[in-house]
Amino acid sequence: MCTIELSKRQQQILDIVRDQGPITGEHIADHLGLTRATLRPDLAILTMAGFLEARPRVGYFYAGKKSGQIFGDQLRKMLVREYKAVPINIAENTSVYDAIVMMFMEDVGSIFVVKEGGLLAGVVSRKDLLKVAIGNQDTREVPVTLAMTRMPNIVTVTGDDTVYDAAKKLIDYQIDSCPVVRPVDAAGRNLEVIGRFTKTTIAKVFVELGENREV
Ligand code: ADP
Repeated sequence: MCTIELSKRQQQILDIVRDQGPITGEHIADHLGLTRATLRPDLAILTMAGFLEARPRVGYFYAGKKSGQIFGDQLRKMLVREYKAVPINIAENTSVYDAIVMMFMEDVGSIFVVKEGGLLAGVVSRKDLLKVAIGNQDTREVPVTLAMTRMPNIVTVTGDDTVYDAAKKLIDYQIDSCPVVRPVDAAGRNLEVIGRFTKTTIAKVFVELGENREV
């Protein structure tokens, strides 16, 4: 199933087939007061997109996908690579104070801590920084590495993962964001940070899918 916006006429065809299928192209055309030839492109689109099934000598069937299934199919086709945001990274020697400033300036909820070459060292979130801030330590003196969750305990995704799998990871691990990474060695121990996948990314995908008409 591909992401397409249905025209009014295509919606009408779907309604007719859903109510009356199996039904021939001829009969659909009669219902709409159009010729079979006029409908041919619409029927071809609806069949190719998986909304309808055509059986020779029988006619058109509604393919039976519920909107939930269609939504799921689409999420599994969307790749992290196409939706990831730009990563917000800081170096390991950054102080907790500067990490907090960075969080405000960039308007993000977590920041990735990277080694030389943009290699992932850790993730520091709002709560990690708050913990230091409410302690008795001077946030200017505490390096962010003491506050972060560090490798190899970081949950990551790659550009080839689906949006569904990435979203499921955020839910399963109860985290707000994942670094999008590219392994730079065969063992996958060194990961270059190439993006960010967050709950906001999911909200954007959700809105984008919501803009397509439901069938
Ligand atoms: P918040 O602190 O705003 O609740 P999170 O829920 O993302 O943000 O973070 C909760 C904890 O999980 C923090 O200690 C953080 O360091 C850690 N964390 C955040 N993202 C990841 C990740 N991708 N992999 C592993 N741990 C993470």
